[in-house]
Amino acid sequence: MRILLAEDDRIIADGLGRSLRQTGYAVDWVANGTDADNALLTGTYDLVILDLGLPKMSGLDVLRRLRTRKSKVPVLILTALDGTTDRVKGLDLGADDYMAKPFELPELEARVRALTRRSTGTTPVIQCGALSFDQTDRCALLNGEMLELSARELGLLEILMSRPGRLVSKNQLVEHLCGWGEEVSHNAIEVYMHRLRKKLESSGVTITTVRGLGYCFEKSTQEPKF
Ligand code: CA
Repeated sequence: MRILLAEDDRIIADGLGRSLRQTGYAVDWVANGTDADNALLTGTYDLVILDLGLPKMSGLDVLRRLRTRKSKVPVLILTALDGTTDRVKGLDLGADDYMAKPFELPELEARVRALTRRSTGTTPVIQCGALSFDQTDRCALLNGEMLELSARELGLLEILMSRPGRLVSKNQLVEHLCGWGEEVSHNAIEVYMHRLRKKLESSGVTITTVRGLGYCFEKSTQEPKF
């Protein structure tokens, strides 16, 4: 899942970005409305967190332009505490939810989960045999027991499980895992993949390497060992 965070307050952006990345989301940060508009024109996002008080182009204008282009990406707007008028305008322009500043991080994260769940339109749990991935709580379960996975490993598993039996290239994995300014090399992907495979050894699924192309997630032909 990839989030565009448009927020000119660096402290809020840093805190929010860090906490979302720890949960396994890829976060791209922009600090003004023009950059937000450009990012939305060129990139694909699962969610936009949009501060309305942005320099260069207001958040409301970014939102208006986005919806004029018929984009359905969910938008969570951030408004000032007394910004009732802005909030109403934002919702009228097609924002999906709002948070008034100052907000508590856990509440914002809960709204992010709700919006991404709504946007996928399907059950937020991806199932493959005994293995399941809960996209709401961002965790993987094997026979109902939580697997201990890092944020990177969770991100990898999510994209692989959402495309079972299909080739996923290393570039797609990098794109899914990283926001701008974050570097993940193809070698690092191999390291994460190695760890992930070890943790999935008894899960009844396999991640096949397609040499030079990428990876493929499949149900093992052998029965899982328990
Ligand atoms: Ca602002």
